[in-house]
Amino acid sequence: MLKVDLHCHSNVSDGVLAPAVVAQAARQGGVDAWALTDHDEVRGIPAARAAAAELGMQFVSGVEISITWAKETVHIVGLRIDENNATLLEGLSCTRSGRDNRGREIAAQLALAGIPGAYEGALKFVGNPDLMSRTHFARYLVETGVCANIPDVFKKYLSEGKPGYVPHCWASLADAVGWIRGAGGIAVIAHPGRYRFSDTAEGVLFDEFKQLGGAAIEVVTGSHTPDQYDEYAQLARRYGFLASRGSDFHAPGESRVDFAALPPLPASVTPVWHDWY
Ligand code: AMP
Ligand code: MN
Ligand code: MN
Ligand code: MN
Repeated sequence: MLKVDLHCHSNVSDGVLAPAVVAQAARQGGVDAWALTDHDEVRGIPAARAAAAELGMQFVSGVEISITWAKETVHIVGLRIDENNATLLEGLSCTRSGRDNRGREIAAQLALAGIPGAYEGALKFVGNPDLMSRTHFARYLVETGVCANIPDVFKKYLSEGKPGYVPHCWASLADAVGWIRGAGGIAVIAHPGRYRFSDTAEGVLFDEFKQLGGAAIEVVTGSHTPDQYDEYAQLARRYGFLASRGSDFHAPGESRVDFAALPPLPASVTPVWHDWY
């Protein structure tokens, strides 16, 4: 069976490895078809595509767009996008533009909470100056021993209600799906099990997404617990969505699931790649 991983990050967003090195790690983990899906950024795609070709791996051009829906941050993955599409590029550039200021505000709040120098500290981990992420702050707080690991930093400092949380307004659902579809791509709701929506709100999100032309949801992802694989397989069937699979790899040793250990999609769903290979 073809091993497909359609969700990974490089140091062009908040991963730690260069795109070509992520390709090598995926291949070593047994991946046959692979997408690079950096947050709000497509600059890693040419290097990723070239590396995948050299490694004999099918390549899927991707992106993971940050949106705000019902006051929550939601991620929409775009697959098989034309990464040179002007409207997509303009939309992504606009989405990235608030990140540096947000980073400065996060640092100011952390300073008030007794952690000075976090902006400069996080910046050491940033591979792309346009893409400062909370993950870079998390790595700094682990490096300095403030927290033991990255999930711990999010729990104590970087999530809503915590001293280093700065609310941010991202793109809209309609924009993100529109940019992806306009660039010839397929829109996928990333790790739906991670959002804190009621079942009703989640249903409204799925309905709106579908109406806008969204086609798939992630079912098996490193960001879901094994229980959620079945739960979202059922929801994919109920809403008529294709199902996607991806590790959400960021760094060796940082992910919940390794490339090689991520289980296949349940047989009950239609893979988003069903007519690609
Ligand atoms: P940002 O786009 O800057 O808001 O950062 C979001 C990123 O932070 C996500 O893509 C994850 O990589 C990471 N992240 C968010 N929540 C958590 C968490 N609870 N544990 C570990 N990483 C997280
Ligand atoms: Mn991330
Ligand atoms: Mn995500
Ligand atoms: Mn991701």
